[in-house]
Amino acid sequence: MTTSHSTQQYSCTIIGGGIHGTYLAQRLIEDATLERGDVCIVDPHERLLSSFRKKSAACGMDELRSTFVHHIGTEPFGLESFAEANDREDELVPTVDYPPRPSLELFLDYADYVIDRKNLESIHRQGLVENIYERSGETGFRLETTTGPIETDHCVLAIGNGGRQRWPDWAVSMDGVDHVWDGFDPSESVNRTLVVGGGITAAQLAIELSETQSVGLLTRHPLTWEVSEAEPPWINWSHVEANLHSHPPGSSERFDVAMDARNTATIPPYLYGEIENRTEEGVLTLAQGTVESATVEDGTVQLTLDHGLGLLGDRVVLATGFEPVFDHPFVERIADELELARGYRRMPILDDNSLAWQREGGKAVPLYVTGALALGTVGPYAPNIPGARRAGDRISTAITRSLRSRTDAASESVRATEVSH
Ligand SMILES: Cc1cc2nc3c(=O)[nH]c(=O)nc-3n(C[C@H](O)[C@H](O)[C@H](O)COP(=O)(O)OP(=O)(O)OC[C@H]3O[C@@H](n4cnc5c(N)ncnc54)[C@H](O)[C@@H]3O)c2cc1C
Repeated sequence: MTTSHSTQQYSCTIIGGGIHGTYLAQRLIEDATLERGDVCIVDPHERLLSSFRKKSAACGMDELRSTFVHHIGTEPFGLESFAEANDREDELVPTVDYPPRPSLELFLDYADYVIDRKNLESIHRQGLVENIYERSGETGFRLETTTGPIETDHCVLAIGNGGRQRWPDWAVSMDGVDHVWDGFDPSESVNRTLVVGGGITAAQLAIELSETQSVGLLTRHPLTWEVSEAEPPWINWSHVEANLHSHPPGSSERFDVAMDARNTATIPPYLYGEIENRTEEGVLTLAQGTVESATVEDGTVQLTLDHGLGLLGDRVVLATGFEPVFDHPFVERIADELELARGYRRMPILDDNSLAWQREGGKAVPLYVTGALALGTVGPYAPNIPGARRAGDRISTAITRSLRSRTDAASESVRATEVSH
């Protein structure tokens, strides 16, 4: 990891050092023949993948939902070989009707192994990108960061879902309420916690807390299970092209197709079964409804639901996910500055072949997008680990092509100079 306040120059700067940014850096070094020193990852945390480590630890996650071929390395079977070489095959958890899934510890140990072996921390610059400006007179950008400016020919946005936690109105500025990813202390000694949310994080958290205390899990809809985040064909570009790219870029149809295909607010069967066990044991109760009013009195929180039922607890923990990344203030700022095209719900309009963000009129700029922000082009797996691979395919090809055409143009100009002499 580096810090610097003087202007640095890179061929490609990746904004965000999560799973997507860290994976893409490898693809650029391995496929696009960029030297390690040509690539920079800017991320505010001390280590790469900190955001994922923090979120998975906060909800007490033990295993990944996705399979052992989905990890941060570029070799599909790299994690499996790592498990075999270290006698850790027992951490590849067998899964009914699905390939095995890695334990969180195995996944993160393999990630550390890849980061160390490829020396990826050496290209990590700790800081936050605040704005992106076009360079005058040449393609590429000038990035304003909290640790000084960066000049770059290509830039990739890998900011995940932006990190703005979703707080329901009733919970804002109320005592006794934390968000699982902000301010929540799992070790705090309480008798009863109310967990709010209906997805995998809420289920995982409710199970974890119910080992030591009584837990109420409040969901808006009945809990439902699905094995994966979307049907597996959505991992393949051919399926995405046939079913998503057939609609106009930025259209409401694209958004709806991608969102309908995502198994949002579902939990995997292994957690569903555990929720049933804990409910039978009496340590976990399930409630359904929306919160009509919330009060705190003498350290006890009371949530009154729309159908009149009241829930009592010592604290509330929200597992209500994130605000949409499409209208994140950072995204708004750069889209305004660079005059980038937006579609339905302010979805970025990307070139489907390169994932480069377009201007009105269709001309793309060398600002590429991976992760949740690329939903309209990569499809329902865009925010997840398989989405990092798919986005990596197209972004690394596009940057390789751009580098080649720059080299060709430079040689052409040298030849022209030699001829004229
Ligand atoms: C508990 C949990 C379990 C999950 N399990 C799975 C699973 O099993 N399988 C799966 O496929 N997916 C899973 N997911 C989804 C998972 O979050 C994604 O696969 C992955 O973490 C997304 O990575 P990312 O790099 O896009 O985003 P992030 O991990 O959020 O990383 C984005 C990074 O960008 C940084 N950043 C943001 N803005 C800026 C800026 N302006 N300047 C510099 N840096 C910036 C952030 O600080 C952050 O470090 C899980 C998610 C959670 C929360």
